[in-house]
Parts: sequence; structure tokens; C-alpha cells
Amino acid sequence: MKKAHKIRIYPNNRQQVQIQKTFGCVRFYWNFLLEQRMTNYKMKQVDENYQEDKTTYAALKKQEEYAWLKDVEAQALSQVAMDLNKAYKNTFKSSFGFPKFKSKKYSKKAYRTAVGMKVNGQYFYVAKVGWVKMAEILRFKGKLMNVTISQSKAGKYFASFLVETENITAEPVQGVIGIDLGLTHFCITSAGEKIENNHFYRSLEKRLGIEQRKLSRRLETAKKQHRPLAECKNYQKQKLKVARIHEKIANQRTDFLHQLSSRITDENQIICIEDLNVKGLIKNHKLAKSISDVSWHEFVRQLTYKSEWKGRTLIKIDRFFPSSQICSSCGHNDGKKELNIREWTCTVCGTTHDRDINASINIRTEGLSGIA
Ligand SMILES: [Zn+2]
Repeated sequence: MKKAHKIRIYPNNRQQVQIQKTFGCVRFYWNFLLEQRMTNYKMKQVDENYQEDKTTYAALKKQEEYAWLKDVEAQALSQVAMDLNKAYKNTFKSSFGFPKFKSKKYSKKAYRTAVGMKVNGQYFYVAKVGWVKMAEILRFKGKLMNVTISQSKAGKYFASFLVETENITAEPVQGVIGIDLGLTHFCITSAGEKIENNHFYRSLEKRLGIEQRKLSRRLETAKKQHRPLAECKNYQKQKLKVARIHEKIANQRTDFLHQLSSRITDENQIICIEDLNVKGLIKNHKLAKSISDVSWHEFVRQLTYKSEWKGRTLIKIDRFFPSSQICSSCGHNDGKKELNIREWTCTVCGTTHDRDINASINIRTEGLSGIA
């Protein structure tokens, strides 16, 4: 799957000159090819065998008149030829209209290349320009396809990277799994695995509680002393501390969810989950904390797009399906089970079930029945 990330960049003076030069050459080349096309198109009306695009970049730069084209990166120009081809073909396929000439004043300043392209932290490199500083690091890991360097109307420079992200060519696998999103655990699988909430994150949560209480004590003190909060150094310091823990928890939760959703979509071809209405559940205050904690919504979102990336089938089971009432051994519906009942024995076949594992097996069976 190809993904794009546009980042603001800060080229130095020399680099700006080079980039501007390339913008100019790209615009020139587009107009040159387009004019040639239009001439050829007219000639084609009379001669079917007319050869198109006789004068390309390679031929053009040998002419003294156009020698300045050599100063810029050749791939940026061959990209122009490809873009024009596409635009030209689209003219006949859709309603885009005939490609237009690019004016110096109004056309978008941009060029695309992949020559020498590499990224290292907050810097990226392309041929003829060199290392350029970026405002942030590249969001996606994977194979760099190309970069489009552009300048906005306000004069800011940007680089838009196209990245082919990991796992795009995932092989089909045999696994079929049902997942019950739990309350005592993060989730429970039909393979009998109970996945805990991240422990490290739990201990951080405890620390967050402590630091938050400290923060409110400092707030009280400031109020009593009638001091503006901006002046209370201790309060401000504590506020920063709390913010950092929040950020750390959020990062760890994201890491945890990514690891889990990657593993599940790596190992299974068919993934069955309950399509839960999280909003509805959050209304029930007793459950609210655990639900928001475990970030179901985010987990399901990740499973959805990662399944798509890897060619897996994600099946969502109707949330009214009584997964915790049915005996996964004999199919008997044993009736409603209160949340505090963690284990039960089927009144028909006598099998004793772990509530959550039984539910996840039912989810898998129900999911498979829908596609069989
Ligand atoms: Zn039974």
C-alpha cells in the first residue's frame, strides 16, 4: 500500500536556487512537449504514421540553445513526459480536457524525483540538491518511491514522500481467529489466548494518579495564596510532568495496539470480531473506565486497515449475537450470563466454559458461517 506524507522543508539559499531552477525547467519542458504534441496531433490528422515525441530531453539538452537543462536533475524532466502522457490519455478517457500550458505566474511550482533519494531522521537527500532539513520525521516506514518538492503560494517549501509501506505483499495464511474484546483482559482469542492490558502502562497509570494529586494540591495552595498560576513555578513544573506521563501512556498504548493488531493480521487470514457499539457501552459508568482504557475503537480501526493491507478478511459480527450465552460445544443457548460470571457449565452437554474463550469461539463460528 502506498502512502504519502507531506512535510515542510527548509532548504538553504543554494538549495533554493537549485529547486527554483528545476521548477523552471520542468515548466519549460512540459510546455515544450505539449506544443510538440499539439503540432503532431494536427499533423496526425493528415498522416497516420507520424512519429510522436521526436525531440525528447536526451536530444534537447545536446542542443546548445537548451544546454541549461543539464543543470537540473534529469528524472524530474522525464517525470514531466510521463505526467503529460497521462494527462494526454485522460483527455480522451474522461472530461479532464486537453492538457494546458503552464504559466510562470499561475502554475504550481513542483517537481518529482527519486534519484539518490534517502531519508535520515529529520533530513532527506535528493540528487543535485543535497541534504535538506525537514520539520518532522517521515511518518511511514517502508520503501521510498519518490518525493515531490513543491513551493506553496506563501513561499514555503514542502516535500511529499510516497512510501510503499510494509507487508504489502503478505502471503495468504491458514489461521482463522475469533476475538472477544474483554473486560478483565484486553481481548481473548478463540485460540485460548488471553491478552492482558499492557502492564507497564498500568504502572504508569498509577504514577499518573500520584502526580495528578500532587498537581491539584499545588493548585489549591496557589488559590489559597491568591497567586496567578503563571507565576507558580512549582505548579507549572508539575503540570509539565503530568503532561509528559499522559504522552508516554498514549505512546505505549499505541505501541501495544500496533504490535497486537500486526501480529493478529500476520497470523490469520480470517479474523472475526464483535461489532460493538462502544459509545453505547460507555454510557454504562461501571464499564466506562475499562472500555476507554483498552481502546477498542482504535484496535478495531487498526485491524480493519491492516487486514486490507495484507489481504485478510475481517468479519464483524452483529453486536446482538449472543456470543456469551451459546455453548460452543453443543450450540445450546444457555441464557443470559451476568458480567461477574466468568465460568459456566452447559445445562445440556455439561461442558464447563471459560466465559470469554467460549465467546471468542462462538464469534469465530458465527463469522465463518456467514462466508461458508
Ligand atoms: Zn453444551
